[in-house]
Parts: sequence; structure tokens; C-alpha cells
Amino acid sequence: MSGFNEQAKIWYDGKWVDWKDATVHVMAHVIHYGSSVFEGMRCYDTRHLGPAVFRLREHIERLFNSAKMYRMHIPFSMEEIIQACVDVVKVNEMKEAYIRPVVFRGYGSLGVLPEGVPINVVIGAWEWGKYLGPEALEQGVDVCVSSWNRLALNTMPSLAKAGANYMNSQLIKMEAHEYGFAEGIALNPEGYVSEGSGENLFLVYKGKIYTPPLCASILPGITRDTVITLARELGYEVIEQMIPRSMLYLADELFFTGSAAEITPIRSVDKIPVGEGKRGPVTKQLQERFFGMMTGEYEDKYGWFTPVYS
Ligand code: PMP
Repeated sequence: MSGFNEQAKIWYDGKWVDWKDATVHVMAHVIHYGSSVFEGMRCYDTRHLGPAVFRLREHIERLFNSAKMYRMHIPFSMEEIIQACVDVVKVNEMKEAYIRPVVFRGYGSLGVLPEGVPINVVIGAWEWGKYLGPEALEQGVDVCVSSWNRLALNTMPSLAKAGANYMNSQLIKMEAHEYGFAEGIALNPEGYVSEGSGENLFLVYKGKIYTPPLCASILPGITRDTVITLARELGYEVIEQMIPRSMLYLADELFFTGSAAEITPIRSVDKIPVGEGKRGPVTKQLQERFFGMMTGEYEDKYGWFTPVYS
């Protein structure tokens, strides 16, 4: 189930285009060489603001950072892209949405050196339910350590959310799925914990919270940043440090974070139960804080929401 609404409009280089017409030529650079950077963020139907996009500016800043590393000049300003992300929800009369801006090298020539190749920008939105399944947020998921490593730091920039990085993610995810796991945890080339195929990872051990640092080949997750902020507010010590694989088996709690995955508990790794083999109390407390911002139980004191219909 794609969850796509094929009646929806797509923002394509500044114009509204019907879903079926939002196409790209097969000789576009991106098709051959994976030349794209993108974002993924959620619009929540919040209690106080109505539909509102979560941490929109931070996502678009990361989009521009990803493009910068790949020497892609985005032919729109940050403000224009931010507005277009709000508008894609509005134009399609949505309340909850997953918003996907993509910047890619389009149709021009096919040299690896992208001379004369335009940069195109598209933004689509659809309703994306719970990424790791409807029960995952409460029950937790069973995961494995992937046989695939995350990219070495000097192969491709892990701080960029580039389409091509998701070839590695697909290997991790497909392998995990094939063996009956919901997700795979990838190590970095030195054997330290990196991240899931599309999520950052947190570990709770003896009351402290640990997460791999940026140099562990992770994407600098915006949900990761949110959780670090909320956890510190709750009085937890949050430590960004390299985590050896074996700690995955000794952790009291483990959870994934991501715009799609939100905060998803992990109940086993390689069939070894995490803690008591169910969602732990720290994970639950962080979920309550996180989802409490959407339900209005906790105020949005950082201004993390951008209302769509104001
Ligand atoms: N790591 C990877 C590889 C991802 O694809 C994602 C999802 N964007 C994340 C981490 C989490 O990032 P965020 O919280 O910004 O969605």
C-alpha cells in the first residue's frame, strides 16, 4: 500500500502539477547516478495549531546542507522551499501528511561531471501511517544487526541525506526483512553502532542515555536532536559517544528515532531481548513528551511547529 493520493498536486519547480504529470525523463542524471538529496518530515494535526509541520526549518536547512556538499545549487531560496512545503499540505487539503522535497540533477547530459544539467526541485505529500507498523510504537520491534556496514566517512558524506545513501539503506532493510526482522542496525566500518536504515538509535543503560555521535556515519537526525533536547529537559544525562556492538545486547532499553519512525522501541536484537523484552520506562516517558506536543499536553516551547492554515 503506497498511501498515495493520485489526485494530489505536486510542487514541481515552482508550479503545481497533477500527480500523473510529475514525471522525469529516463535520461535524467538522477536516474543513472543517484544524484539527489531530499527530506522527509511530518505535518501533524495538532490540538492548538491545527495541521502544523514539525521542525520544518531544520529540515530545509538540512536539505540545503545536503545540496551544498554535493555542489548542487538549489534555484530557490530557503524561504521559498519552506513556503512550498506548507502549501503542498494546504493545496491538497490535508491534515496529516508526510512531506517529501527532492532536489535532483535532471535532464541535460549524462557525463558524471554534471555539466549543463539543471537542478530540479519537487515536493510531494501523502499520508504515511506508522513507519514500522501500527503496533510498533507500543510493542516495540524485533531487529537484527546488519551484515552491511554504514558508509565509511570518506566514501560518501553521511551528514547528507542523499538518495544514493539509500542504496545502502535498502541493503540493510531488505536483508532484515528477508530474515523476519522489522529493521536492521548497521555498524560503521570499525564495528561501532551507527544507525538503522532510516532511523537514528538511542540506548538506555543504568539510567543514562547514549547515542552515536555524528562521526559514527549517522545522518544528523532532527528527531534525534528533538529527543536529546526533551531527554535533557527531563533531567537525563545524554551522552553522544561511540557504542560497541556488544552494548546492544546489554542495554536496558533501545529505541529508534526518525521523522517517519518517530520514537519506536526495540524489543530484541538478534533475538536477544532488550531489557525485559518490551518498551521500557524511559522510552515511554520520551514518547509521552514527544506525542504530548502534538496532542497539546505539552507546550511547543521551542516553536517547533509551523501551522499550515494560519
Ligand atoms: N538516519 C537515516 C539514515 C534516515 O534516513 C533518517 C530519516 N530521515 C534518520 C536517521 C532520522 O532523521 P530524522 O529524525 O531527521 O528524520
